[in-house]
Amino acid sequence: MRIWDVSMTIEPGMPVWKGREAKRPVLTVTRDFAQGQGARETHLALDLHTGTHLDAPLHFVQGGATMDTIPLSRLIRSVKVFDLTAVSAVIREEHLAGLAINSGDFVLLKTRNSVEDILEKDFVFISSAAAQRLVDLGVDGVGLDALGVERDQGDHGTHHALLGAGMVIIEGLRLAEVPEGQYLMIAAPLKISGVEAAPARVLLTDLL
Ligand SMILES: [Zn+2]
Repeated sequence: MRIWDVSMTIEPGMPVWKGREAKRPVLTVTRDFAQGQGARETHLALDLHTGTHLDAPLHFVQGGATMDTIPLSRLIRSVKVFDLTAVSAVIREEHLAGLAINSGDFVLLKTRNSVEDILEKDFVFISSAAAQRLVDLGVDGVGLDALGVERDQGDHGTHHALLGAGMVIIEGLRLAEVPEGQYLMIAAPLKISGVEAAPARVLLTDLL
């Protein structure tokens, strides 16, 4: 059985949203053998939108659903990976036009973000119109290999379109090694009560 770990490694030097220092994870060893404390313990300060993570509707919809209410049946399921590495900057409606996307699908979009060092700056993102197209197609969830599904849209049109439709968003995927195709996805966000996002381990494997 082939397994792809499409998650980012959490470490201080990892790419974070727009390279902002405040977004970097901070690991603090609070107990250690070197101090004669007989064990090691580490404290992690982590923005919930760090690395590979899921966004719930509450991220952009006031009173929207929280992470812990998303059923696992929407996160452990078949997904379609589409290769959009030819897209230079913005995923537009026309890039989705030829793709075999059906109602109820969960789509993962593989772009240059997975193969080039552009996550903190000029990453490929999804236009509002393309997001609305995914909503119109009846897509259940969308994953992107960027730390955000949009970059500099003042109205946050992409987030609003997707989350307003109750879609699940996965950000920060690493898809370089994953060929276009259909897979079984296991996305397991941390079980935190009442929040708008959660870091997740996301794995792909062959469909059973
Ligand atoms: Zn997010």
